[in-house]
Amino acid sequence: MKLASKSVSAVEMVKEALRKAKAASEYNIFVNLTEERALARAEEIDAKILAGEEVGALAGVPYALKDNYLDLKTPTTASAKILEEFVSPLQATVVKKLEEAGAICIGKANMDAFGHGAFTENSAYGVTKNAIDKTRVAGGSSGGSAVAVALALDIVPFAIGSDTGGSARAPASFNGIVGVRPTFGAVSRYGVVAFASSTDTVGCLARDADDARLVMRVIAGEDARDSTSVNDVYYQPDTPRDISLDGQQLRIGLIASLLGEGVDAEVVARTKEYAEKMKQAGHEVGEVDLPMLQYAVPIYYVVTSAETASNLARYDGVRYGRDRKGDSFVAETRRRIVIGNYVLSAGFYDAYYIKAQKVRTLLIEEMREAFSRFDVLLTPTMPFVAPKIGEKAGDPLLGYLADLMTAPPALVGVPAISVPAGETAGGLPVGVQLIGWRGDDEKLLALAEQMENLTKEGVYKGGVA
Ligand code: GLN
Repeated sequence: MKLASKSVSAVEMVKEALRKAKAASEYNIFVNLTEERALARAEEIDAKILAGEEVGALAGVPYALKDNYLDLKTPTTASAKILEEFVSPLQATVVKKLEEAGAICIGKANMDAFGHGAFTENSAYGVTKNAIDKTRVAGGSSGGSAVAVALALDIVPFAIGSDTGGSARAPASFNGIVGVRPTFGAVSRYGVVAFASSTDTVGCLARDADDARLVMRVIAGEDARDSTSVNDVYYQPDTPRDISLDGQQLRIGLIASLLGEGVDAEVVARTKEYAEKMKQAGHEVGEVDLPMLQYAVPIYYVVTSAETASNLARYDGVRYGRDRKGDSFVAETRRRIVIGNYVLSAGFYDAYYIKAQKVRTLLIEEMREAFSRFDVLLTPTMPFVAPKIGEKAGDPLLGYLADLMTAPPALVGVPAISVPAGETAGGLPVGVQLIGWRGDDEKLLALAEQMENLTKEGVYKGGVA
């Protein structure tokens, strides 16, 4: 991979990444560039290399960090005004692990405030533009992270995003790159601004499956500071990087109900072609029906709004954003706090919150059963390609429906990745989603890599050169 090549110094690599980040300022990728700290870190790494000391697998590699990760003595806004002046007293475990591996954060990437959105139109710091067509949205909520990787300018080879209900996968799909959501608990969430604790995960964005695997192997693992992190090893740091499927024939289940009404014809066509190519690769493809999926979006919005209302109660105007006058939260965040408190209120708790949790359990059982018959499930990632900026902004429900395919794996806690599957006649990228059962993280990446080798569509370039 391009990442580990050490033919140039860390300082040169970081300077180059910062230069490109500034050249691409019209895309609104970063909330803050952490220039000084990045250059100081690069100097440290070069000095280590010169002294013959051991450096990590990502030595000197610049990356973008979504602005909901805390890095020491660095502002973290989660793209919300209430955190505008917040400077983090601690460092997220993921950031620490990347730092130990030698990676260098060049800046904090734009996102929907608190992760609330699918387009990065809900940032208090402006919309991030799509890497392939700047009149379109980047996708969200990890929009800045995705565009930093996808832009033809090659600002950074990878970025850290997060995925609560699709936030790594949606922008990956809209920008033609790979987006990973790991098994729930595979990666520590210590130092990540909480949105919905039962579905928040740490994800990454990269240009291909191999780069994504390298990053996930660095950041995954149990952490004493996050009691929801698990000690099962889902990403295998000591396995040779080029693990393949060893000629294994997988049973792929194409979810037929997600190829119907409301899904763009070209998205359906690319997904079916991808399924055909899976057959060519020797896999068995069948159709699967999961009737509970029709309830995934309503369950997701009841459960995650309840959790976000609870998590965001800490922003009480005392500890954070004391002097703000009414602009602490964007409209979408306010909406979710209101919905969340409503579904948790005494009169409606049973009717909405408890009901949603029960239906969620039925969805989990249905998916568990599907995985007794299939190894991997295949769907489009998003029902449509990147919309024009503003096109869906007027109606929040249009945004919620965008999560039709990405919300189910989040509610079930299983890994899901978005991988490039070609483009529309108009040249816009289409992504498909590979879903595995808990712990199948590496299998999904191996399958994605096999498909990349087959189609040579893994690396998709667009936007300005
Ligand atoms: N689009 C979804 C939402 O708005 C998912 C966002 C996310 O994963 N952070 O909640």
